Amino acid sequence: MDHLLQVKNLEVNFKTYGGEVKAVRDVSFHVDKGEIVAIVGESGSGKSVTVQSIMGLIPTPPGIIGKNSSIEFQGQELLKMSKRQMQKIKGSKISMVFQDPMTSLNPTMRVGKQIEESLIVHGRASKAEAKKQAIEMIRLVGIPNPESRYNQYPHEFSGGMRQRAMIAIALACSPELLIADEPTTALDVTIQAQVLELMKSLQEKTNTSIILITHDLGVVAETAERVIVMYAGMMIEEGTVEEIFAKPGHPYTWGLLESTPDVTTADKKRLVPIEGAPPDLFAPPKGCPFAPRCRYAMDVCIDHMPPSFEVIEGHKGHTAKCWLNDERAPKVAHEPIVV
Ligand code: SF4
Ligand code: MG
Repeated sequence: MDHLLQVKNLEVNFKTYGGEVKAVRDVSFHVDKGEIVAIVGESGSGKSVTVQSIMGLIPTPPGIIGKNSSIEFQGQELLKMSKRQMQKIKGSKISMVFQDPMTSLNPTMRVGKQIEESLIVHGRASKAEAKKQAIEMIRLVGIPNPESRYNQYPHEFSGGMRQRAMIAIALACSPELLIADEPTTALDVTIQAQVLELMKSLQEKTNTSIILITHDLGVVAETAERVIVMYAGMMIEEGTVEEIFAKPGHPYTWGLLESTPDVTTADKKRLVPIEGAPPDLFAPPKGCPFAPRCRYAMDVCIDHMPPSFEVIEGHKGHTAKCWLNDERAPKVAHEPIVV
């Protein structure tokens, strides 16, 4: 079966006065119909640049997208599309929810009207039907009193309600793919859980595929089916949630898991921050980008970029770019985390 979205060899650089920043390198992954895929990593790891590339939001210049990069959506190459073609796809087939809804909600327009506009612009409803559908969307995302909320402005909504309104706008046109960039990071923990729950239940109803960007593995465990771990602009591990939590194959992922409180037991586990800082993306190391912070680094890691290794034999989709997975590498014990 063809994938809904297929990203191949994505490379994004930015020209700056200080030189060229290698923001994303060698990123390849796919998303299937109805799947929730999480992209995890620290800030600056290339998660946002990756999804901005999908949305055609990388300004070129200063951005430069690699010649061999490809992003296919429903079999169509997005990187070759004109602004107009892209505009058609955005909002109707692929839509996006951002961390701060205030940057994307129009403060001077009633929330209900903003949902209506999205429906009308993309031809999903006539003017006459749009209001009814907008109210229905407000109800669907769990905002109480949809009829009166319809007439309110964004500033009359709480943070969590605004994020729900954003989701209503994003889902109004029943997109095939919803990209959510840290959608709950700005919210407090209870509201965060509610918004994630909402996204999951809407996903089940509509079978929309979701790319969820987060730095929080707790959010991943609760929501996603597959995980991509990014570090220094590269994908360093990929697998199902079960695979990544049970047998992570990269020391950076081990570090991430150790610095995540146990979501299942709510244990006050000691948080272990990963020591050191990510590499300089003006001149990333030629070998493994994690080597300067990795306590298992070997000679080979310094000079040679690790290829993708299968972490568990036979688990084709679970790969990690770490030399420890080479059969010649010393066996390093890492305690699995059971979810
Ligand atoms: Fe550490 Fe080497 Fe693996 Fe990189 S390739 S994460 S330096 S062991
Ligand atoms: Mg970001």
